[in-house]
Order: sequence, then C-alpha cells, then structure tokens
Amino acid sequence: MKAGAALPVAARGWAPAHGTQICPDCLAETGAWQTSWRLLVITACRRDSCLLVSRCPSCKRPFRDQRHSHLRRVGAATLCGNPLGAGPTRQCQHDLTTIPTAKATDEILATQARIDTALTGRSVTALGQPVGGAAYLADLRHLTTLLLHLATQPGGEQLADWAGDLRPEARRRTGDRGPRWGMRPPDPPVLRASALSTADSVLAAPDVNTAAAMLTPWTELAPPTNDGPLGWLADRTVMTPTLSRLVLSARAPHRRLSHHLDTHPTRGARMPINLVAVPQVIPHQQYADHLVGAFDNGEEVVRQFASLCLARLHPDITSWAAAAQALGMPSLMGTRCARACSATRLVTTQAWEDRIRAAMNDVRPRNYRATEAKIEHRLHLTSRWFQEWVRHYRPGTHYTSVSHALTWQWVHVAHAHLDLSPAWQGHRTSAKERARYRQFEASLDERQRSNLAYALHKRA
Ligand SMILES: [Zn+2]
Ligand SMILES: [Zn+2]
Repeated sequence: MKAGAALPVAARGWAPAHGTQICPDCLAETGAWQTSWRLLVITACRRDSCLLVSRCPSCKRPFRDQRHSHLRRVGAATLCGNPLGAGPTRQCQHDLTTIPTAKATDEILATQARIDTALTGRSVTALGQPVGGAAYLADLRHLTTLLLHLATQPGGEQLADWAGDLRPEARRRTGDRGPRWGMRPPDPPVLRASALSTADSVLAAPDVNTAAAMLTPWTELAPPTNDGPLGWLADRTVMTPTLSRLVLSARAPHRRLSHHLDTHPTRGARMPINLVAVPQVIPHQQYADHLVGAFDNGEEVVRQFASLCLARLHPDITSWAAAAQALGMPSLMGTRCARACSATRLVTTQAWEDRIRAAMNDVRPRNYRATEAKIEHRLHLTSRWFQEWVRHYRPGTHYTSVSHALTWQWVHVAHAHLDLSPAWQGHRTSAKERARYRQFEASLDERQRSNLAYALHKRA
C-alpha cells in the first residue's frame, strides 16, 4: 500500500523520531519495507489482520534505527541489522519474519480502514457528514490525544480497558510536564491502536449529539483546576472546530446531569432507589422544603423533573424516556420535561442530587403505582364512596363531580401528573375542564380534603 501518497507529510500526523514499525508477515512474504509503516497512525496490517510490531525483541529498538551509526545496514532485508553498541560492524541478527504477531480486533481494523482511506486524501464519514481526509486525520489525532490525557486520570480505567495499560507508559514518559501525547503518542502499537479506535468510534457516531453523549463520561474525568475543565482540556490538545463543538456539547449541563445520575459513585453507598416509592410528581410540600431555587423553571415542571431524576438514580434507568415509563408516564413526557429543564439548572449536579434525595426522604412512603392503579380502577366502579363523602362533608355537590374528586385523589394522594388523571379517560384535557377541576380543588376546605384522601382507602 502506498498510504500517504496523496497527503502532504504534515497532514499525515505523528511521525516517529527514529526507525519504523513492521508487519513481520508482510515482510516475510514480500521482503519489502513499506513506507506507511513509519506513520504512527498506522497500527495494524489489514492484509494480515494483525497489529504492527514497533520494536525488535532482541535489541529492543525500533527497526532500522540508525541513530547510533553512520554505517549503512548490510545483509538480508529480513534481518534486524540494527547496529549494536560496541564494534563498528556488529549488527542485530534477529530474523524479523519470525516475530510473532498479535491479532488486531475488528474495531481496530475498521478504524485502520478509515485512516487508510483518509491517507489517500479521500473523504471519510464523520458525525454523519463526509469530511476531507486531512481534516478527519487532524480531528482523530487531536481527539486521541485528549482521550490519552483523560485516560490516565482517576476513573479512566472504567471507560476503556486500555487505560490501565497506558499508565506504565505514561509513567515512563513523565517528566516535569507529564507525557506530551500530542507530540508523541504511546509507543506500543496496541495502545495507540486502541486509543485511536476509541476516538474513531466517537467520530463515527451518526451525529454530534450521539458523539457528545459518548464523550461526556470522558470529559467528566478532567480534574478541577483554576482555569476550569475546558481550560484543562484545551491545554492538552489542539481544539479543532469539530473538537470544540464536541467538547462543549459533551459538557452541556443536561448531559453532565444525566451522566451524574446514571453513574454517580456514591450511589452504592446510599439507599437504593425503589421506583414504586417515587411519585410521578414530588409533592408541593417537599418542593417548598427542598427544591425551590434549584431551577429557573415553574414549580410544576421542577416537581416532575425531580421525580424523573430520582428514577434515573436507579441503575436500570438510563434515559429520560425510561425514567418516565418507570413512573407510569408516557416516555415522551420524560424527554419533554428533561428538555424544558436542560439549561435552567442553578445548582451543581451534586447539590441537585442531595436535594432530590432529601425531598424523597420526606415523601410519604407508599407504593405509588398501586395507588394510581386503585384510582384508575375506581373509575369503573360505583361511586358510593363519593356519595357518602358528599352526604357527610359537602351536601349539595352534584354526583358528576366524582370525576373531579378522582382527579383530586390522583393529584393529592397519588401525587401523579394532572395530565394523566384517569378521569380524563385518555383525552387531552381542555382548558375549560381544567378550570372546572381547579375550581373544585380550590373550593375544598381542610376537613373535606382530609376525608377525600381518607375515602380512597375505604372500600368503594
Ligand atoms: Zn501484513
Ligand atoms: Zn534487533
């Protein structure tokens, strides 16, 4: 392969300071040394589905490393031939064709195929759009650099299995300033290949949103510094326009909150979330006590969002749609509510988690799904309980108000969402219907309210 022929040298990215990598199997078959093996974005041989080898097992140096000698290499093309320290003519005699190779994974080979395409100057699909080979290679290299820096932060090994293997390499390279992965990537081909492949999986996402969501767990590893995490990230790589866009989107408050709720490490140490004990909407009292001022949104939205966030603390719930469904709401209500709150949070993710947990501690413990089911069931039964309540506490109320009474129980006992009251019988409520319900709700005195709540627990 004549990779690199179509792109100028600078656009091809990292180049080794000395020597070259090899594919022992290709060398055995053809005896030819491929120029592309010198490029460090080449990590695998697609013909043999194996990783390249970067160092001779005998002399422990890169192949064709001439830095200690002015003498020309002599002998067979498939012998190492690196000059050995002492005598002027002593050369490493290792037979390169016998070096065992490691298999490259399908992901690594797919990434290598995209890199090979880009190196010929052809376009590659990134974030759903065709981009020029040079631009793709620049984005890939700078994103890989960023991931390499993030991978050695605490927690990095939870995101990629190669992060653990990177640590010794990072330690070996650490001077006062730490490893400069942007100048020189890791030497072992398997590490370079794995990091490139992880970065490429982000660029291969179908759109910016998907890619940013993949990147959020990584950008959360950036340590807190005076310049802020964005400054830390920008100090460690070249922020191409694509990379800036991805990193900003990955750090968007709503993505960070989702990530926090889904993965927060304190989860195991705290009380596990019992989904049936979470009402669809956090009651007004707990909102007033714990949630006021956390979001620049109306009370109704914040109370619903708090419930969704609590559901999301459950390990099986990893989307707003799933959170809504777990609480008996249509999935669309979850995504809509989360969108409404996506850019209005006024407190940190941790402070919000603390507040919703405190609110939940004060919510009356009950199986809210069972309470919802009970009210739904009542819709189909006689309304003797209602007539009794009217006779004792509110003489003169028309029997058709039973639907308002059911909705009241739905909202004030089940703490369920007004829009979903079974009394609406699946229809969208009109403004008029809501106004009539609100009127009923406002007309109740304390005694009527407590007995209406109590009536739910009596036989229908
Ligand atoms: Zn090969
Ligand atoms: Zn050697």
